[in-house]
Order: sequence, then C-alpha cells, then structure tokens
Amino acid sequence: MKIHRRNGIDLYCFENLEVFPALCHGITTRQGGVSQSPFDSLNMSLHVGDAAHQVAVNREAVWAGFPRPAEPVFLNQVHGNTVVVWDGTAPAADRRLTGEADAIVTDQHGWLLTILVADCQPVLLHDPVRSVIANIHSGWRGSIADIVGRTVTVMKTRFGCNPDDIYAGVGPSLGPCCSEFVHYKKEIPESLWSYRVSENHFDFWAISQAQLARAGLRPAHIEISGICTRCRRDLFFSYRAAHTTGRFAAIVGMTPKA
Ligand SMILES: [Zn+2]
Repeated sequence: MKIHRRNGIDLYCFENLEVFPALCHGITTRQGGVSQSPFDSLNMSLHVGDAAHQVAVNREAVWAGFPRPAEPVFLNQVHGNTVVVWDGTAPAADRRLTGEADAIVTDQHGWLLTILVADCQPVLLHDPVRSVIANIHSGWRGSIADIVGRTVTVMKTRFGCNPDDIYAGVGPSLGPCCSEFVHYKKEIPESLWSYRVSENHFDFWAISQAQLARAGLRPAHIEISGICTRCRRDLFFSYRAAHTTGRFAAIVGMTPKA
C-alpha cells in the first residue's frame, strides 16, 4: 500500500487499485482527527460511544479528501453474510442503507461505499471493465461464511462481471500474529483448520486470498496489505487491543460523471 495525504488526512491506498482513474479509494488511520481517548483521534463510527459532533468533524475532514460531490454510504454491519446491491437511490439522512448487510455492490458513480472496521478485514473490489465496485466487511464470521466469494458471485450474476477482470485489496486487519482462537474447535469449521499457523492462531489473510482465487480472481490482481491492526494500534483501531475503541474507514467510489 501507499500513503497519500489528502486534506491533511493520511489514506492508505492499494497500488493495484490506484491505477484506475475513475476509482477513488482509501483507508483511514486513527490519526488526524479530533476525538478524545479512547477514540483518538480519527474515529469514524457513531456507534462506539464517541461524541457525535466530533465524529462529524472527523468524517467531514475525510470526505473533503475525495472528489465532490461524491456522497458517503454506510451499512448496518452485523457480521453476517448479506450482500446488498445498491442502485444509487438516496439513503436515509444518516447516510446508512436500511436493513442489515456486510457487503455492498454498485455500478453507480458518485457514491463512497464505506465500511467501518477495527481488526475485521475491509475488502475492496473493482471491475474496471463493467465499472462495478464492492466494499466488504469480513471479520472471522464473514470469512467462515465466505462473504468475499458471495460478493464476487453477486458481481457476476447481477452485473455480468468476469472474475478475471476484478481487482481486490484486503486492508489492514488482524494478522496471523494476533488471530488467536482459543476455542477454534467450536468456532471455526474444520475445513479451515489448515490455515492454522500455530497452536491456535489462524491466517485469515490467506483465507481471503484463497477465497478470492477460488472465486476466479487472478492472484496477481489481489493485494493484501499485510498490516496487522493489533500490532499497529498506534496507526489503526484494534478491538482486540482495546474493546472500547474507534473504527477506521475503508472507502471506495467511482468519481462522479461529469
Ligand atoms: Zn499482529
């Protein structure tokens, strides 16, 4: 990943995605905002106990780094496996889509699909041929449910995407160093036990890589950030490091059509 500073805010960008001129994307860090501890400082979530007016300041600072008049859209994330196809109809006043979903797919320009995380994987997808984007919230429950593969299936069936054309970025999230599952025999299906890297640590980055490849993406089109949020809690929010903490944002959009 590369770091770009926009409007004074650092955004981590995937090198395989930033080559597409119609695409705008970035992943925020916890730095550069106004929220107080334990949400310091660039908390993007209104649902973790932080003061709403400070989150609003943080969000505006981030949106200002993206092309206007692109508007953000949020999901009600619930660690499920629902993929919503969005047609660009205006969301509610708080910019959240109704219903619950953990992945969003659209072919509409001018919207910033936003996923909020702190250890879970944000996975960005882009098909530059069909002009389709997706943003996925894939925690360990999402990984088990293969929400990444389900999202690629939706891109194929609804928009005629060829997986061969799709590019993917897996953002900062819990690495194999910190993905400890003491009760994995109850929580994680046996089919994924081969991704154990020690007695009870799992490599969920490798699981996503395999799921994307199984969905038909070329390995060369998949970029894994390799940044562990718990190890780098100076840079990112980590739920495992501190349960009361903020959320950072993964954002992807297609620039508004002139
Ligand atoms: Zn780690």
